[in-house]
Amino acid sequence: MSTVLNEVLSANAGYARSFGSKSELALPPARHFAILTCMDARLDPARYAGLSEGDAHVIRNAGGRASDDAIRSLVISYKLLGTREWFVIHHTNCGMEFFSDEVMRGLLANSLETAELGAQGFRDVGKGPGSAEGQFIDWLTIKDATQAVVDDVTRIRRHPLVPKTIPIYGYIYDVKTGRLLEVEEATRAGRPEESTRARRVAEVEVPTQESSLTA
Ligand SMILES: [Zn+2]
Repeated sequence: MSTVLNEVLSANAGYARSFGSKSELALPPARHFAILTCMDARLDPARYAGLSEGDAHVIRNAGGRASDDAIRSLVISYKLLGTREWFVIHHTNCGMEFFSDEVMRGLLANSLETAELGAQGFRDVGKGPGSAEGQFIDWLTIKDATQAVVDDVTRIRRHPLVPKTIPIYGYIYDVKTGRLLEVEEATRAGRPEESTRARRVAEVEVPTQESSLTA
C-alpha cells in the first residue's frame, strides 16, 4: 500500500470514530451558500470561511474558474439544494498564472510526465510520447488575477440558468496572510437585480440624511 493511501485510510478511520451527530446532517447546505474556489493545496475553504460539515457547497477546480462544469454544480446547488448566495474566491500566486494554453499544449504534446517549474516557467523534462489531445481543452489560465475574478463572476451573473436574485461576491485569498480581499468590481458585477435597485434608492437618500446630520 502506498504511504499516502495508508495515511489517508488511517486518518479516515480516526475521523469516522468520532463522527457523532454528523450522521444526522441534512443533504441541503444548512447555511445556504456556495463557494467556487481553486484546488490549490494551500487553500482550506472550511477554515478560511469558517465552514463545518453540512454548512455550504464548495466547488473546486484549477483556478476556481467559472467553467461549464463549475456552473453545472452551481445551478444544481441553488435549483435543487437551495443555496442563495455565491462566492468566487481565487487566490494570490495561483499556478494558473504561470502558463498559457499554448505552453500547456506544448508540454503535453512532449510528454505526460510532470514538468518542472523554473524561472522561465514550466519546462518539459519527460521522455514522451505525449499527446495532442491537450489542444482540445481550454485550460482557463489566468493572465490578470483581478480580471479573472471579474470575468468569472460576470460569466456566472449573465448565465441564462442563473437567477438574477443570487448575489455573487468576488474575492482573492492572500496566501501570505490568509485574508480574503474583495474584488469590488467583481462583487459589483455580481450584484443581484433587487439589491441594485435598493442600493440606487439608498444612494439617493444617504446624502440627504448626512446633510441633515451635519447641518
Ligand atoms: Zn490556484
